[in-house]
Amino acid sequence: MNSKILEVEKLRKFFITSRGTVRAVDEVSFSVEEGETLGLVGESGSGKSTVAYTVVGLHSPTSGQIRFKGEDISRPVSKRPKALKQSIQIVFQDPGTSLNSRRTIQQILELPLKVHHLGNSRDRKERVVELLERVELPPDYMYKSPNMLGGGERQMVAIARALATNPKLVILDEPTSALDVSIQAKIINMLLRFQEEMKLSYLFITHDLSLMRNVSTRVAIMYLGKICEVAPTMKFFSNPFHPYTKMLLSSIPVVLPEEEAVKPAKITSEGEIPSPVNVPPGCGFHTRCREVNGICSQKIPEMMEVEPGHFVWCHLFPVVTTPTNLEKGVSV
Ligand code: SF4
Repeated sequence: MNSKILEVEKLRKFFITSRGTVRAVDEVSFSVEEGETLGLVGESGSGKSTVAYTVVGLHSPTSGQIRFKGEDISRPVSKRPKALKQSIQIVFQDPGTSLNSRRTIQQILELPLKVHHLGNSRDRKERVVELLERVELPPDYMYKSPNMLGGGERQMVAIARALATNPKLVILDEPTSALDVSIQAKIINMLLRFQEEMKLSYLFITHDLSLMRNVSTRVAIMYLGKICEVAPTMKFFSNPFHPYTKMLLSSIPVVLPEEEAVKPAKITSEGEIPSPVNVPPGCGFHTRCREVNGICSQKIPEMMEVEPGHFVWCHLFPVVTTPTNLEKGVSV
């Protein structure tokens, strides 16, 4: 087993608003192994992007702990050591807003190098050319501004910027969902190549389960600020346990007959995801769950390891006495 590059333990992020307290992320625990891709999947409003922003330091946690290679980094990015900031980068969903249109591509790609005092001005220019080559863009693009580029090209620049400081962990926040289908596969293949070449670890935030089948090492499902199920990708798709996971998997299109054979029977989605200001008591999914029983609205389930490496947050599953469950606080 590889070592853990990122550990998130009982993370909470609440926002106080005029409508009440938004429990965006509530007691979320997971880890990312070195070199793996953990897919963090959920509907809009599930809290997955808040997890990403808190891990990268754009939000400070309400409570809980975030560790990078064992070091506690549970604080805003401005209070983290520089070397550590270099090692964790993020690619946002919309390159149209994440790249400053008043700067040239050269200025955008040089900025992280300047911030981290990497090289002199000649070195930095060479590095810009190298980064553009890496993402398959011509060197003269350095003189353009982002609004002269197409959406796919802008996202390639955003990826080049994330790679500029040679990070170890990259948070990918829906990196292809704002792009044309024609360019999505190119970007995904590029990300997989960089992962291999640079030994990167990815936390891949998405609403697209089908994409995770091909890209992730493990998948974690989020619902209303909590993680419901975490499993290695093969197990996740062939033997899902949580009723919410089954509901999501039953509605995704599949191509291969062997995928169809293991896909859960169609489960119609009931109702809408409740507001995170007004989270239902007990299991937050009980208002939509077809397998709900008496205890579900009374008691919050605990995350349990139901088979090696496969964790479920649901009262339907008995406690299995694994070494992990015996530890205080289950680490996923
Ligand atoms: Fe459904 Fe109850 Fe399990 Fe929640 S705890 S997913 S309501 S069966």
